[in-house]
Order: sequence, then C-alpha cells, then structure tokens
Amino acid sequence: MRPMRLLIIGVGDAFTRVGFGSSGLLETASGFLLIDCPDLIHRALHEAATRAGWPVDASRIDDIIVTHLHGDHCNGLESFGFARRIARLTSPTVPRPRLHVTADVAARLWERLAPAMQAPLGEERDSRLDDYFDVRILTPGVEATIAGVTVTARTTRHPIPTIGVMITDDDGGLAWSGDTPYEEAHIEFLSDADVIVHESNRGIAHTPIESLNALPAELRRRMRLIHLPDDFDPACTDIRRLHAGDVIELSHARKS
Ligand SMILES: [Zn+2]
Repeated sequence: MRPMRLLIIGVGDAFTRVGFGSSGLLETASGFLLIDCPDLIHRALHEAATRAGWPVDASRIDDIIVTHLHGDHCNGLESFGFARRIARLTSPTVPRPRLHVTADVAARLWERLAPAMQAPLGEERDSRLDDYFDVRILTPGVEATIAGVTVTARTTRHPIPTIGVMITDDDGGLAWSGDTPYEEAHIEFLSDADVIVHESNRGIAHTPIESLNALPAELRRRMRLIHLPDDFDPACTDIRRLHAGDVIELSHARKS
C-alpha cells in the first residue's frame, strides 16, 4: 500500500500578506484528503504543487475536512464548490466532494455559503448545500474512515467550534492540531503521531511558541509549525517550521 504523504499548501494565518492560509493535501492509498480550504485555494494548491513538483489540482480532491468556520480555513469552499458543481453540469460522473465537519460546523455552514451559492444553477429551484457537497458528520472521539484512512477528531478551545485531527493508516500517523490555544490534553491527543503539525501564533486563541518550546525534545523533534505570523522568527525555537510546497512522507518520518 502506498504510504501517506502530505503537501503543505499554505502556512500563514488570517492576516498573511505574503502567503496563504494554513492547509494541507494528504495523499492516501485511495485518494486525496484536503485539510482546510482557505481563500484562493486553487492558486494556493497550484503554487504549492508546482514548487513540490507534484502535479495535483482540486479536481482530484474528493474529501475535505474543514476544522472550523474562520475564513482562513473555509473561505475556499465557495470556489471549490462552484468549480466542482459546474464541472458536473457537463459531466454528471464528476463526483460530489465529501465535506467532513462536526455537527456544529454543519449546522451553520450554509449560513456562510448561501448568500453566494443558493441562486439556481442549472436547475429552476434554489441551490442547496447538498448540491455542492456531500456533508458527512465527524463526531469528536469517534473514528471515521476517510479516503481509506482513519480519522479521529478532538474539539479544541479555539473561540468557535474547532477540531484537531489524528489521521492514521497501517504505516503511521499524522496529527494536525487545528487552531487552538495551548492545551496539554490536546498535545496528549496528538502525541502518538509520527508527524505533529501544530499551529503557533499570538493571541489568546492560539498557541504561543514558548509553550511548544517547553515540550520534551522527543515531541519537538516530531513537531512541525504552521499557522505562523508573517514575521515569525525561526530562531526562537528548535521546532522546524513548514513552508508552502513542503512534502512530508509519512513512512520516512516513522523511520527517522
Ligand atoms: Zn481560527
């Protein structure tokens, strides 16, 4: 079975002037799973894929996890949803993307998308959320199978309903913190993974780098930083920061 690998699409926060919001594309043995869908997702993915020499675009992504409804994690759903639905108008075999979110997010998602997306499109009636996405509910603490791998979500203490996820297959695991203030129990939840992609930023809703610097060296070695301010100084930590276009091979991570 082909081991998982992760393409880093963006590493910025909501205010980045030089990059894109934080997201990643995981390739599994059976498909592609997009983790968060920020603004300009098509451009961000194209630029990261080009940098990585890994030709992939949004038309191949059939599964998306959205960790929460802040715009720098979900604003790309509009263009992603339109692109796929318009493609289906001419080719009905184009699959409807599965959108994996918690019940809290599902309950308010259409409130956010409807003003742009509810007009009729190829039919006489108004459009609905399920014309664009096949919404699947992720329940924190309950394992789900997505793109052939096992995904478990945990709710963080970010100000709005937000999850981090553990993603595992036979070869190893990837942890993705989601937006979160520093929380020991969340670190514990993520700590079995071969690679832990953890956010760090300023403010009470995020994790200060000093908190991560205080973790054991063995954990810091497996940790990679994302959701960073543009002026993040890599000299303030020995934890490696990620860049758009980075590729993480999960099986290699386990052996190293
Ligand atoms: Zn957020």
